[in-house]
Amino acid sequence: MTDEHPLLALTVDHATAFLDSLPHRPAGATATAAEVATSLAVPLTDNGVDAAEVIDDMVAAVTPGLVASAGPRYFGFVNGGALPVALAADWLTAAWDQNGASEAISPAAAAAEAAAIDWARELLGLPEKVSGAVVVGAQAGNTLGVTLARDALLRRDGWDVVEDGLAGAPPITVVVGEERHLTLDRALRFAGLGRADVVVPARDDGSIDPLALSDALGMIDGPTLVCAQAGNVNSGAFDPFPEVIDAARAVDAWVHVDGAFGLWAAASPRRAHLTEDVGRADSWVVDAHKWLNVPYDGAFVFCAHPDDHLRSTSGRASYLPAGSGRDPLDWSQDASRRARGFALYAVMRELGRQGVADVVERCCHLASRFGAGIDGRAGLTVRNEVVLNQVVVDAGDGDRVERLIADVQADGTCWVGPTTWRGRAGLRISVCNWSTTADDIDRSAEAMVALAERL
Ligand SMILES: *Cc1c(COP(=O)(O)O)cnc(C)c1O
Repeated sequence: MTDEHPLLALTVDHATAFLDSLPHRPAGATATAAEVATSLAVPLTDNGVDAAEVIDDMVAAVTPGLVASAGPRYFGFVNGGALPVALAADWLTAAWDQNGASEAISPAAAAAEAAAIDWARELLGLPEKVSGAVVVGAQAGNTLGVTLARDALLRRDGWDVVEDGLAGAPPITVVVGEERHLTLDRALRFAGLGRADVVVPARDDGSIDPLALSDALGMIDGPTLVCAQAGNVNSGAFDPFPEVIDAARAVDAWVHVDGAFGLWAAASPRRAHLTEDVGRADSWVVDAHKWLNVPYDGAFVFCAHPDDHLRSTSGRASYLPAGSGRDPLDWSQDASRRARGFALYAVMRELGRQGVADVVERCCHLASRFGAGIDGRAGLTVRNEVVLNQVVVDAGDGDRVERLIADVQADGTCWVGPTTWRGRAGLRISVCNWSTTADDIDRSAEAMVALAERL
């Protein structure tokens, strides 16, 4: 065993070299996936290769294809980085190699997950009685959320999906907003609900139009699922929860909230008004690997109806004795899983309430600063009201947008990607890394303006 420690020491050197390079290396990759694949495409051997050589070779082969999404000037997608304490806990998680499925399999993993769920619930201001689960991401969380909704709605309508499946079940009317996330459509598909029945138009900021929602709900009979959103993936806008939930309650609909990144606004006193009344919903999902800055992967799901939740997801076998507390496998689709609770616990313990609020608030503030730094310069216009951490930028026609994005990515000071917002091509900026500073924002804004001026 002892001869494995040099390998881990070597690996720490590789890892810290990468982390040290983050503030300086190009924000994007310098090799394509095909180029990395060529470097990796050595012949498989009969007798294997020395472990240190494997690690050294792999680092050399993949490094050009790594993106600096863990660094301070990567504003693509909605990614987030990894706080050092979360990374440290995640390293231990790999070393401990615990199967997080149940108390019997790993008491420590089960306990850490339970503690993390409790703290996340508290930070988000959700009711004390909600049940929770940790899943791979908001995609899995949306799938779990709409599955819980489906089963509970049908159970209340006299149909038990757990016993009888879906064939012959009463229909559920699924209502979504025009600006929902793509993972919600996939979640509905995976849950056997097909395409949404009603797509409610969005207001200019991308949030659901509450009057149109209420009109639509007035024409629906029977089990109804309303899917709302905290944080539009382009504009950062929030659905107006007080009105959405009132309208849904009037027809006994289940409200599922996709809050992949935006729900963390609830943890910041200065942004919490955006999530007013969200605690009255029935199910929620929020990522940890985005704004909580935990390394990939992890997300929380919460449900206001623990009995319904448990009935949909619990599982037992003779060789798997129930723990005395909470067995993670009872609360999600997964059985064996990474023990994600350790990193989640570590990050919330280090930051505390104020620390989480500070990460959220700082990112929002820096997003506004980025917007202000480019708006009205070199043909760039900010198209959204920056209510959160997202900025959508107009840079002229589609061709100019495409060329600017290619130039920004090639320049490497920062990284942004394309989007289409309200029918028009643009650049999308997302600030959700714990390590981003005002100087990073200013450098990125100046680089973008300089590149736009040259077009
Ligand atoms: C990122 C995102 C998702 C999907 O989350 P994953 O973690 O990629 O599974 C869902 N909804 C919204 C609003 C998102 O921003």
